Amino acid sequence: MTVSNVYPTAPLRALDAAHHLHPFSDMKSLNAEGSRVIVRAKGCWLEDSDGNRILDGMAGLWCVNVGHGRPEIAEAVAAQMGELSYYNTFFKTTHPPVIKLAGMLADLAPPAFNHVFFTGSGSESNDTVMRMVRTYWQTLEKPEKTVIIARKNAYHGSTMAGASLGGMAPMHKQGGLPIPGIHHIAQPYWFDEGGDLSPAEFGLKAAQELEAAIDEIGEDKVAAFIAEPVQGAGGVIIPPETYWPEIARICKEREILLVADEVICGFGRLGKWFGSEHFGIEPDLMPIAKGLSSGYLPIGGVMVADRIADVLVNATGDFNHGFTYSGHPVACAAAIANLTILRDEKIVERVADDIGPYLQKKWAALAGHPLVGEARMIGLMGALELVPSSPARRRFAGDAGRAGTICRDFSFRNGLVMRAVRDSMIISPPLVITHAEADELVRLTEKTLDDTHAELTRQGMMG
Ligand SMILES: *Cc1c(COP(=O)(O)O)cnc(C)c1O
Repeated sequence: MTVSNVYPTAPLRALDAAHHLHPFSDMKSLNAEGSRVIVRAKGCWLEDSDGNRILDGMAGLWCVNVGHGRPEIAEAVAAQMGELSYYNTFFKTTHPPVIKLAGMLADLAPPAFNHVFFTGSGSESNDTVMRMVRTYWQTLEKPEKTVIIARKNAYHGSTMAGASLGGMAPMHKQGGLPIPGIHHIAQPYWFDEGGDLSPAEFGLKAAQELEAAIDEIGEDKVAAFIAEPVQGAGGVIIPPETYWPEIARICKEREILLVADEVICGFGRLGKWFGSEHFGIEPDLMPIAKGLSSGYLPIGGVMVADRIADVLVNATGDFNHGFTYSGHPVACAAAIANLTILRDEKIVERVADDIGPYLQKKWAALAGHPLVGEARMIGLMGALELVPSSPARRRFAGDAGRAGTICRDFSFRNGLVMRAVRDSMIISPPLVITHAEADELVRLTEKTLDDTHAELTRQGMMG
């Protein structure tokens, strides 16, 4: 594939370095190294400005569920642009795409969910959650119920509220976060934090921190608990089986709302339309984004269960919140086309019954590699824990993330996008990945592990 090299990499990189500040990046070291320029993508494959083909093991950024370059979505977007490119939904107005999308979401979501508030992103969705739960309790004349309990190492976005609800220590270090009124409890990360407990014992213990936090803060002051069904950006942390049932019990017994952040787990990632359904959780609110449009255009929202919607609709009066692009017609058209593909091609069912189990089995076998302490996968999101001596749950001496970074760089060189979270390697491929592509993903991962093992051995880090 040399024909496509119409993008001269060097000047593009120079312009990028001169003017573009990247998210979550150390700009000095990025500029020294040079950004990778992605010029096109189709299905599960990316192509860079040098004509290299790279398997997109991360579905963009956890979002391209239907794969890249679907013409149905492009056509729906073009048609909507021609019909009504923008109008707002603030002042007693609405439009066909937002009406249709809201109805589709009510059909696809669990029966208790019949309302949606639209936003432009997952972060805006979680800002909306924060204002919505506090407004709910204010309406019920319990204005002192304001505290939101969240988890360490959670990811809920990068706005002030999103980053504060999240439990990412490096994010909290910058810009005076977290904002007040948020309390973080333990994450159910057995591999790193389980100690001598069995996963089942540890899952219960982590969940019971919620009960302890409610007691400490006072039930009359706690508004809600928010969590991802499976932590994504934190490192694909799959909770022990005991975790969610215990959280559900505590939320039922206490007067607090349960918010399931479905931004990654929603729209098929776990083999159900929503991750909550996989775990049998019955949340009150579900922030959504990413797979809602497969990333073709920015759109998010908050799905609201009937008992909350009833209060907001019938008692709150004006909810003084919204975004210029809430329910943007063109973004809604992209989301409708995307959901139609997911539904009509039975892609969600395929994750549960076919490609999910297929890739899970091959992924689990990677646990036999001398660099891998644990290989886990649920639906189509997985992680490998890199360790100096498998199978011990012991980390590398020195800086966390050094081995992960080396592994990620080999992965790119080998033609596979994997992400490193400290020393966990994670994948979350498009849900349309074929069996042959899944085989290729595993083959490239094995090669990458071998390359990394050799390099770490050379550096004296193994053992
Ligand atoms: C990505 C993500 C967000 C933030 O979404 P943005 O669209 O980047 O603002 C929120 N929650 C979870 C679980 C996410 O993975």
